[in-house]
Amino acid sequence: MKLYFASGNDHKRKELSRLLGGYELTLPKDEGIDFDPEETGSTFIENAVIKAEALYSIVHAPVIADDSGLSVDALGGAPGIHTARYGEEEAGRKLSDREKYMLLLRNMEGAEDRNAHFTTALCLILSKDRRIIIQETCEGSIALAPSGTNGFGYDPVFVIKEAGMISADLPEGDKDKYSHRGKAARLMKLILDRETGR
Ligand code: IMP
Repeated sequence: MKLYFASGNDHKRKELSRLLGGYELTLPKDEGIDFDPEETGSTFIENAVIKAEALYSIVHAPVIADDSGLSVDALGGAPGIHTARYGEEEAGRKLSDREKYMLLLRNMEGAEDRNAHFTTALCLILSKDRRIIIQETCEGSIALAPSGTNGFGYDPVFVIKEAGMISADLPEGDKDKYSHRGKAARLMKLILDRETGR
């Protein structure tokens, strides 16, 4: 089964392919498709569905899309669906991962409640009316200071509750066991394996 991934990001493709147990994913850009839909949803699921539908309407073949982010209790659930661009509007420019998580630490100064979670929504469209949506979380808290070099994004400041460790201090493979993306992808793999008779 040819499976399209509604993203422009090679790193994400590699990661999702590994988490799904080796399904090859085709990016729109591999086939010269110009793909950059506006993420106008107000939830992770809405945004994953928007991306999946946009690509499905072009390729008319099985499509998978994802959307993810970090929700911090003391910030009323922010940055949430805006995680990827946290602080950029105020700064008027792109921020590095480090600038973003240092901004988060500053915005959390003095906060006693440091609970937070990552969320990943995955949307699979197999045919026009066959859609599977999975949303999973990884519960944890925001550390007082950054640590570690593994992972990406906010991993240096996110303590995974189940592991009792900062995400960026965990070996890469270990993070998959606990992560929102790992959990959602393992469930999605069951569906894909059934579809393909693997
Ligand atoms: P999107 O899914 O491409 O919209 O990006 C969501 C943003 O959330 C990314 O830019 C990352 O900074 C952050 N993020 C999502 N998952 C993780 C994770 O597992 N660790 C650290 N940061 C993450």
